[in-house]
Amino acid sequence: MEKILVLTHVDESGAELTRASLEAVAAGVEMAEALSASLAIGVVGAQGASAAQQLGGIKARVLTVSGEEFSCARYASDTAACEALVKAAEATLVFAPASSRFARVMPGVAYRLGGFVETHITALAKSDGLEATRWFYRQRIEAVVKRETRPWFLLLEAGTRAAFVGSGAVPEVETMAVTLPALRTKVIGVRAPKQGEQTIRPDAKILFVAGAGWTKKQADGQVHSAEAETLILGFLKAVDASLGSSKSLVDQSGENQTVLKFMTHMNQIGQTGATPRHPKGLSTCCHGEEPHVVGWRFINERRAISLDPNCGWARGKADVLYVADAFGVMAKVNALLTAGK
Ligand SMILES: Cc1cc2nc3c(=O)[nH]c(=O)nc-3n(C[C@H](O)[C@H](O)[C@H](O)COP(=O)(O)OP(=O)(O)OC[C@H]3O[C@@H](n4cnc5c(N)ncnc54)[C@H](O)[C@@H]3O)c2cc1C
Repeated sequence: MEKILVLTHVDESGAELTRASLEAVAAGVEMAEALSASLAIGVVGAQGASAAQQLGGIKARVLTVSGEEFSCARYASDTAACEALVKAAEATLVFAPASSRFARVMPGVAYRLGGFVETHITALAKSDGLEATRWFYRQRIEAVVKRETRPWFLLLEAGTRAAFVGSGAVPEVETMAVTLPALRTKVIGVRAPKQGEQTIRPDAKILFVAGAGWTKKQADGQVHSAEAETLILGFLKAVDASLGSSKSLVDQSGENQTVLKFMTHMNQIGQTGATPRHPKGLSTCCHGEEPHVVGWRFINERRAISLDPNCGWARGKADVLYVADAFGVMAKVNALLTAGK
């Protein structure tokens, strides 16, 4: 019989599981039932026991590794915690969120335990045992894989299933003691990309993409970057949209050109950028070239505003293209949104 362990970790608050962790828990519950496997949940964090409160009603053994050393991501402590949890659960299948915290430690944990790790998992199913669907080569090739090697570690992509919602009795929590190696790394803080505002919101219903056109000379021969910033931030705030960018726009900061201050390479969508998942997307002042639009593959409904009726969006890449001045359109949209509130 397979033994499934779902490894989870806390968010910045230290006391709650991340959404991606709860998605992995949902995967564990579903596959434990499908495969008639046993289920255990492992929680890593400073206050693992309080985070486990979110697992109300779950039919699983709940193990935690708690303490100040586990409050933040660090290779040495996180690998030790995950290794101890896998051993305690005697897991044959290990599901974990593909978060930056776990993605960097799981290959090391798999190696220590003689297992095999798989990344970019988007779906799990039962055939003759467990089979996993994953992407290769920056999401150009999709494969369905099975493995004999155990333990088999699967890093699950965030946003590919609904998160587990606990209801009912809070499970009993077993706290594991972990012997840590000498910790050479001391985490003294987090240095995040320069951003006045949090603009990347993976759970947003709308992706708003800004292209280089926002910082180009407009019909009056002038650049209107201050107005562009106000319009873009106004829309983001009004609808809680996530902000994406074309490569041309984010590259400008390195070329000493006019830039939008809140935009970084983290916002870039496309072949050499991100491939986010949102129900809707609105592209503005962007030409819609193929290396950019490949990053839109998981956006269900696509609209674009461009002055160019011959842009890439017009060639079958958008569901709706507005051939219009994005400054004018977004000013009107923001005014309507403000009036509607
Ligand atoms: C190997 C490789 C990888 C790449 N990877 C990526 C990637 O990951 N992501 C990415 O984005 N690009 C990528 N690119 C670059 C890509 O090919 C394009 O150069 C880039 O996307 C163009 O950005 P843009 O459309 O914002 O700028 P532009 O091509 O300059 O287009 C600006 C658009 O704004 C419009 N515009 C101007 N003013 C207005 C207005 N007032 N209202 C409405 N529209 C207006 C213009 O008509 C124009 O269509 C890659 C290229 C290569 C070679």
